[in-house]
Amino acid sequence: MDSTVASSAEVQPGARDCCDVLVIGGGPAGTTAATLLHQKGWRVVLLEKDFHPRFHIGESLLPMNLPILDRLGVLEQVRAIGMIKYAAEFSCAAAGSPVQAFRFAEAMDKDHPYAFQVRRSEFDALLFHNCREQGVSVHEGIKVKNVTFGPSEAHVVHAVDAGGGERTWEARFVVDASGRDTFLARRYGTKQRNGAHQSAAIFGHFDHVVRNPGQDEGNISIYWFEHGWLWMIPLRDGAMSVGAVCWPEYLKTRRTDPEEFLWQTIRLCPQVAERMRAAALNGPARATGNYSYTSSRMWGPGYILVGDAFAFIDPVFSTGVYLAMNSAVLGSVAVDACLRDPASARTALPAFERQVRHGVRTVSWFIYRFTTPAMRALFQGPRNTFRLREAVISLLAGDIFRNTPIAMPLGMFKAVYYGISLARLPRTWASHRQRRKSAAVVFDGGTTAQDQP
Ligand SMILES: Cc1cc2nc3c(=O)[nH]c(=O)nc-3n(C[C@H](O)[C@H](O)[C@H](O)COP(=O)(O)OP(=O)(O)OC[C@H]3O[C@@H](n4cnc5c(N)ncnc54)[C@H](O)[C@@H]3O)c2cc1C
Repeated sequence: MDSTVASSAEVQPGARDCCDVLVIGGGPAGTTAATLLHQKGWRVVLLEKDFHPRFHIGESLLPMNLPILDRLGVLEQVRAIGMIKYAAEFSCAAAGSPVQAFRFAEAMDKDHPYAFQVRRSEFDALLFHNCREQGVSVHEGIKVKNVTFGPSEAHVVHAVDAGGGERTWEARFVVDASGRDTFLARRYGTKQRNGAHQSAAIFGHFDHVVRNPGQDEGNISIYWFEHGWLWMIPLRDGAMSVGAVCWPEYLKTRRTDPEEFLWQTIRLCPQVAERMRAAALNGPARATGNYSYTSSRMWGPGYILVGDAFAFIDPVFSTGVYLAMNSAVLGSVAVDACLRDPASARTALPAFERQVRHGVRTVSWFIYRFTTPAMRALFQGPRNTFRLREAVISLLAGDIFRNTPIAMPLGMFKAVYYGISLARLPRTWASHRQRRKSAAVVFDGGTTAQDQP
């Protein structure tokens, strides 16, 4: 099962190449799936429509990313481009509000005490080049246009290169890792907008932002404010990624250019504005439209969906890249089983779906309630009774797929949450109505929108 290394220029237009697995998309999910399937001995082709390095938002990784990076053989390379993140900090935006730091070293499993903040253009390029170096046949500047699923492991993938030339591959299995383009979910009409929670974002990279001192320099800071929450993610080269995730109706009020609107939003948050007194934007301000969705179907005969191609949830806990890469890890196990014994698809694919959905459900419960008064109260004064605080930190570290005993304490956390919500019923009700109202608003990201759902 040899694999070829080829650039798009080496592929003959009109020729049909054969492979075991064709992966659509060269982001974290696609490169993980491709590398692992290649390591299992399959001939893998990966097609990426863009050229690396390319901009992407989503810079804060989780501790549980590190074992996956190690498996891919890139941990030390990522360390070299990353900023070490020991904790996630939460605070209200009002001046003087206390900052609550959740240190990963205090999670239930103390063996994963940090993660990295990365510039995604560098991180994604690194994963992509590693894929190529390991022997995957990777192609940039080639966009998949159509897939014709055949009856028996002969699925034809039609793509077009940057010059408009047509390319065709025949694959036994297709992995859709096309991110928020959601290639197959759109094609099958299975993409479902989240009716209970919607948010949208505006963000940019800044120079001269005040950082935390000492070991806390690399922490992510999250600030609640009246229209949602803001993030500050320090990058290794001195820049700070700053963004606001807001109710879509707030972003719809924008009447100025995105840069000015981002500054206006920052000025609504005294703690952030204080850290950004001398800051200067060092690139464009960008916006995305509302983006929470899942696909009702995750697999079918000859294909699976991984990463954002399957689901996207609000990024407040920085779970996107980890969930994407982990779904690719689980997906590669399922695809390997299907290729070895097609009859095992009946059990391997539903098992893959169960595990991925379990992870998405576990974090979604917290994320959808993140802006409620009860959740703020709990995040600002968490106690460790029944190991509740440790369990929340494990969740924030991404430790949701192993046997770490978080279920009971997280159940307690939910019970306390409902208790506080009842005790503050009028505020809870107002916040619930706000969330429902926002979920109905459609915002396309404005004129600078990039990679919208
Ligand atoms: C505002 C915001 C903030 C975020 N913050 C964080 C964060 O701090 N931490 C975190 O972990 N996550 C964050 N995320 C989420 C994170 O960006 C994504 O979850 C993650 O990038 C998903 O990886 P992926 O590989 O599934 O998709 P992507 O990274 O989007 O990769 C998909 C790739 O597929 C390619 N592609 C698409 N269609 C085709 C086609 N037809 N043919 C060929 N190639 C194609 C695209 O060019 C792209 O390179 C954030 C997201 C948003 C919107």
